[in-house]
Amino acid sequence: MSVSVTTRVHNFNAGPAILPKPVLEQVQAELLDYKGTGISILEASHRSKEYEHINAEAQARLKGLLGLGDEYSVMFLGGGASQQFAMVPMNFLQPGRTADYVVTGTWTEKALEEASKIGQTRVAASTKEGGYRRVPRQEEISLSPEPAYVHICSNETVVGTQWHYWPEVGDAPLVADMSSDFLSGPVDAQRLALIYAGAQKNVGPAGVTVVAARTDWLEEAPKNLPTMLRYATFAKNKSLYNTPPVFGVYVLNLVLGWIQDLGLDALRARNEKKAGIVYGAIDNSEGFYQGHVEKDSRSLMNATFRLPSEVLEKEFVRESLSEGFVGLAGHRSVGGIRVSMYNAMEVEGCEALAAFMQEFARRHG
Ligand SMILES: *Cc1c(COP(=O)(O)O)cnc(C)c1O
Repeated sequence: MSVSVTTRVHNFNAGPAILPKPVLEQVQAELLDYKGTGISILEASHRSKEYEHINAEAQARLKGLLGLGDEYSVMFLGGGASQQFAMVPMNFLQPGRTADYVVTGTWTEKALEEASKIGQTRVAASTKEGGYRRVPRQEEISLSPEPAYVHICSNETVVGTQWHYWPEVGDAPLVADMSSDFLSGPVDAQRLALIYAGAQKNVGPAGVTVVAARTDWLEEAPKNLPTMLRYATFAKNKSLYNTPPVFGVYVLNLVLGWIQDLGLDALRARNEKKAGIVYGAIDNSEGFYQGHVEKDSRSLMNATFRLPSEVLEKEFVRESLSEGFVGLAGHRSVGGIRVSMYNAMEVEGCEALAAFMQEFARRHG
């Protein structure tokens, strides 16, 4: 028996988040019998040729989308992006070296805190003053003489800032937490020594974290690290050293196919259009909606704003829910409203929201 869902709402959840509808439909269609095997992919061995094909295809698609060759390894890990906060310094922060962190919000605070448990760290720049309303300018970033690496978060999901340039870091390896803007457009990935991204914002379900890293760098990790905490274990075994998050990688691979079909340039244009609609609704509200972030650091993925009072913010969330908009309450740490409009969100969803915002401001302004 198949269940047909007729009441899908506008899903603005921050993560886990909206997935492309054709992908969900394919998952549903294939769930009981994966490509004539008579079993579900959920029941298949990770050593089966079906899963090996999925695994290889997902890695190839990622390399293609990121424009990376064999000098990079693409890996699938568990533990979420949060585990990367520890794995990066465990692998690359050697005794006597310093890792530089650019702190732009909650996620980089956490990354820094984890690294500080493992080795010497330094804040290369912070925009905490004023409440993380922007990313730093190049001239505000002060690096250690020879940092082990420089860590940034390309899109701070909670406050809603995004880097619109890559910082210049000389010869230092640049590491980016791209969890919430991964593959939202073309990426100049060659500039980065390591990228990590929890899949559940832009590219898949929770449970799988994508890492792309320069293969030669992985060898520098201390040899006494536990096997499962060494990137090289995953790279050398094509993420099949132990049981990978099979279902997550399967859905991720379908999303990557969907991204390939659309093309990263078109996806970027679509994301810019969506963000333009939502920020337009903020900017044209005569001050009713107050954006949290300075304009040139605004995120295309997460738009954050306040209303004139917390009472009105609660009312906004309540009314929006009854109008079929889900997930608009801001993160518990900052309050206000957050609109997460990841890759799979359609332009129509943002248009409908902007119309609701306008109408809400008219009635309550
Ligand atoms: C969601 C998020 C994380 C945490 O991801 P988990 O998979 O829950 O550990 C880390 N960094 C950023 C930028 C995020 O958006």
